[in-house]
Amino acid sequence: MGAGLAGVTTAWYLAREGHEVVVIDREREVAAVASYSTTGIVAASRAYPWAGGELGRAMRQAALRFDPELWLWGMQHLFLRTGRSYRRLLEAKVRLVRYAQPLLHELAAQIGFPLTRGVLYLYRDGHSLDEASARAGEMRDQGFAVEQLDRAQLSQREPSIDVARLAGALYAPGDEAGDAARFCRELAARARTLGVGFSLQNEILSIEPADGRVRQVVTHRGPIQGDAFVCALGVMDRRLREQLGTQVPVYPVTGYSATLPIVDPQRAPKHAAIDETRRVAFAPMGEELRVTGGAQFAGYGREHEPQHFATLFDTLKQLYPGAVDYGRARMRACQRPMTPETTPRFGTGRYQNLWFNIGLGHMGFAMCAGAARITAELLSGNSAPIDLEGLRIRRH
Ligand SMILES: Cc1cc2nc3c(=O)[nH]c(=O)nc-3n(C[C@H](O)[C@H](O)[C@H](O)COP(=O)(O)OP(=O)(O)OC[C@H]3O[C@@H](n4cnc5c(N)ncnc54)[C@H](O)[C@@H]3O)c2cc1C
Repeated sequence: MGAGLAGVTTAWYLAREGHEVVVIDREREVAAVASYSTTGIVAASRAYPWAGGELGRAMRQAALRFDPELWLWGMQHLFLRTGRSYRRLLEAKVRLVRYAQPLLHELAAQIGFPLTRGVLYLYRDGHSLDEASARAGEMRDQGFAVEQLDRAQLSQREPSIDVARLAGALYAPGDEAGDAARFCRELAARARTLGVGFSLQNEILSIEPADGRVRQVVTHRGPIQGDAFVCALGVMDRRLREQLGTQVPVYPVTGYSATLPIVDPQRAPKHAAIDETRRVAFAPMGEELRVTGGAQFAGYGREHEPQHFATLFDTLKQLYPGAVDYGRARMRACQRPMTPETTPRFGTGRYQNLWFNIGLGHMGFAMCAGAARITAELLSGNSAPIDLEGLRIRRH
């Protein structure tokens, strides 16, 4: 269930294990929702739990709305800030990303998909840069390379960037980027050759359990039966969530994503980058540039207004003037499927044959291959390939 990064990668591994697989999604195309809008950065060196900052600000604003579901999510999220849980979540996230990144390489190599190496994390003042570099120490201790660049070194590495407003950057040579939607669609095409079926434009309306198992899912085109089901639905409707037999604390965190044609390649970035001061991310994708940003609790709708893109475009204009054509920008609002802990959840809840691969949050591309492999192994009756402490779905 679900044809985003989580569903398609899981289908791939299941098919490779010899299972007969059908992927169901209500959209017309694979990777049409969150997995379309992503910047495609594999930010392995920053597998930090998302806490405070922009998310905290968005939560304070949203707290004024009557939304008990969000309040509960917010209360659980606040526990993140306490030292012990933060440490535990950091460990879980790093464990998963370290497992997932080599698998993503393997998959990319199998389908001939290009990933570019090296991601820049930009800072506008020296204090934040030093702080971020000190914080990166805990990731360096885990074996992730993170270099600090002053302005001159940054200019050398990324000649197209206007460094006037920047203090410098952190550079993670092992982090990567790629067009995640294209990856997902190409993997789906290869999965079809392994016999995976795709039932698209088919909305899942309910699931029907019997004797502690899911017997079938009911779609608007009729029921679909199976021996086992995988829930990889990203952000899902409350009605459906309540039928899944466990707490699925995924709440949508809306972000904004624009794709713009590059008009002057000399002025465009060569590396994917995140302006950490403004929380705006960029990634070149062939002849286009993707820019994303924003973290809002805007509910389940995908509406957007020009003002949601103002900071994104302003940042691009400052850092890469003249690189893209703003008049031809394709804009979208999209939601990250986020758990309060900002970590995904795996395993089964009440129903023995309903497996979860949910809550990939802000790192779905970075984590998808590992998350899928874990799900496929568990579903096939094997033990989990990594310790799932902090990453299991609740039983009830
Ligand atoms: C603006 C933005 C930027 C991002 N940048 C990055 C990044 O740089 N790096 C990174 O690693 N991650 C990034 N992410 C996160 C990443 O995009 C997500 O974690 C990932 O796409 C989640 O994949 P998914 O398969 O779980 O969800 P989705 O891609 O949303 O897939 C879920 C699918 O389930 C389907 N579905 C739901 N309900 C039903 C139903 N009832 N019936 C049928 N189908 C249903 C949906 O149609 C959808 O296709 C970003 C996200 C956003 C929004």
